[in-house]
Amino acid sequence: MSKIVAIVGRPNVGKSTFYNRLIGERQAIIDNVSGVTRDRIYGTCEWNGKSFTVVDTGGFVKNSSDVFESAIRSQVQIAIEEAAVIVFITDVTTGITDLDEEVANLLRRANTPIILCVNKVDNHTREISANEFWSLGFEETYFLSSISGSGTGEVLDAITEKL
Ligand code: GDP
Ligand code: MG
Repeated sequence: MSKIVAIVGRPNVGKSTFYNRLIGERQAIIDNVSGVTRDRIYGTCEWNGKSFTVVDTGGFVKNSSDVFESAIRSQVQIAIEEAAVIVFITDVTTGITDLDEEVANLLRRANTPIILCVNKVDNHTREISANEFWSLGFEETYFLSSISGSGTGEVLDAITEKL
């Protein structure tokens, strides 16, 4: 199997939207209400002549914060174990949340290269707000809009550089 690129982050940040952009199919299930994605979904992506497997994590069933926290934690642990590169997605419209901080703390301890993506940066005003995410301390921080696709090419370049 090709190298794994795992997409992690709390619900509703746009993991599945980003995944769909990489895979080019409406394969992940996007739920506008709860951001629920069914299970872990794998797909193949090719960029800059490299082929890799992308994993969309999710699988959150209940809208209970306890379930979310433990489920996110276990998805992040699996990603740390199996992925060659981890893409950590956050959402500019909510700013940095406690769950983002928690995920960031888990990822900082890993040896896997981490690419922080601030998603939903759809316009210039949001680009200014997105700067707060540099405070999470990830050297590789990218602003993107998974809905329009702007910024996703740079993220793909960063991914393939590390494979
Ligand atoms: P997930 O729970 O992390 O997989 O998030 P989803 O991909 O299901 O997206 C959650 C919601 O955010 C959906 O309503 C998406 O349409 C929306 N969304 C995703 N990416 C963007 C973006 O770049 N800009 C905006 N404005 N909305 C987005
Ligand atoms: Mg999802």
